[in-house]
Amino acid sequence: MLLLESFVFNPFGENTYLIYDETKQCVIIDPGCSSPSEEDRLFGFIDSHQLKPLMVINTHGHVDHVVGNNVVKRRYGIPVAAHSDTHYDFTQAKRQAVWLGFQPVGDIDQPDVDLEDDQEIKVGEGVLEVICTPGHAKGSISLYAPVEGWVFTGDALFCRSVGRTDLPGGDFDELHESIRSRLFTLPDETEVFSGHGETTTIGEEKDFNPYVAI
Ligand SMILES: [Zn+2]
Ligand SMILES: [Zn+2]
Repeated sequence: MLLLESFVFNPFGENTYLIYDETKQCVIIDPGCSSPSEEDRLFGFIDSHQLKPLMVINTHGHVDHVVGNNVVKRRYGIPVAAHSDTHYDFTQAKRQAVWLGFQPVGDIDQPDVDLEDDQEIKVGEGVLEVICTPGHAKGSISLYAPVEGWVFTGDALFCRSVGRTDLPGGDFDELHESIRSRLFTLPDETEVFSGHGETTTIGEEKDFNPYVAI
């Protein structure tokens, strides 16, 4: 059974998720830590629980989700995994920081590992499945933990909202199709852990999300 710890980082209130199990293996989803005190919170949890990081996984390439990539990968000597369609966004992190009113950032390394639709990522004895959910950004993925009934949706689906589609690579119709065909087809009781804001469930969003007509 996987375990979950979440952190809220950076001026955008980005949710960083740490997934681990009793074997102590862990993955870090979207390390948004952008200051020494935020890095200390993440590293403090990993180190005090004696976790063994396997990789960073990015749901997409926007700066608020990748700003902590380099510091995490260098500290633990681990790769960064993301969909290959995110590569352009990684080259644009500095520019995105300006567009989004984010703090100035340095270069962010390209991902080391390309993830594909339906790929399984093992975390100890648990598994995360890659679900391609583009539309908010190119190469956006969600990560589904079928045993635990969790889905990490990045900025595709939020509690009662959806990701903006006005940034480069955004496509409103594509996002809605991703949500309808890939997320709303998960079991209703699946817990949704988004890139920003509160948790929800697939069933609640099918009933109450004002932005997605089923
Ligand atoms: Zn985003
Ligand atoms: Zn975001």
